[in-house]
Amino acid sequence: TQRQLVERERLAALGELSAVVAHEVRNPLGAIFNALATLRRFQEPESPGLTLVSILSEEAHRLNRLVDDLLDFARPPSPQPQPVPLAHLLEEAVRTATVDQPRLRVEWALEPDVPPLPMDARMMRQVFLNLALNAVQAMPQGGTLRIRVHRCHTRTGALVEFTDTGPGIPPGLHERLFEPFFTTKATGTGLGLAIVRRTLHAHGGHISIESPPTGGTTFRVRLPL
Ligand code: ADP
Ligand code: MG
Repeated sequence: TQRQLVERERLAALGELSAVVAHEVRNPLGAIFNALATLRRFQEPESPGLTLVSILSEEAHRLNRLVDDLLDFARPPSPQPQPVPLAHLLEEAVRTATVDQPRLRVEWALEPDVPPLPMDARMMRQVFLNLALNAVQAMPQGGTLRIRVHRCHTRTGALVEFTDTGPGIPPGLHERLFEPFFTTKATGTGLGLAIVRRTLHAHGGHISIESPPTGGTTFRVRLPL
């Protein structure tokens, strides 16, 4: 339809802009990281200078993550699918997202008979990492992240669910979350779910949200066999 065409053009333009900005930011960032490493060596232990270097370094890393997200978003998705065991990818992503989160409980419910699915492992690890990070960020005071994997019987494939005990998402926002640069976080990029949805569509998959008025959110991913 006309609307989808406009949307595709808008995304392509955003993608190009993102690639240019990301490349332009990457070089000065590299210089900043080098200078900071040197500067750090000149600071006395526990001096105010060292604290400032740490702040600079943290902020530079945040910019670096933004650049990574922008480049991921700018790259046209062309998955190289190989049969990958889902559980393995999920465990890696969840471990990365939940390290240093002692107040977070992780519950697994993995159905044993889910066969390896044809996936681009690098791209799908990014998908699961984004969903896990969003869940963790929705529970700053702690909570439970539940990951459930089971066979989808209506259409052959697998379902992967990420359920958190965070505040939930008002129904009116469900579609907007997938728009590039939509974020409610002070330091968010708003690119996570845009990349997630685009990657899943490139795999013939699908994502939906369930968020009851009582709170908590489930992101449900369907992947074809
Ligand atoms: P970012 O994480 O950088 O904000 P995302 O595209 O990953 O960008 O997410 C967009 C927005 O969707 C978030 O800012 C947040 O408002 C909302 N969101 C995503 N996941 C959850 C969740 N599990 N619970 C509540 N809100 C969420
Ligand atoms: Mg995110």
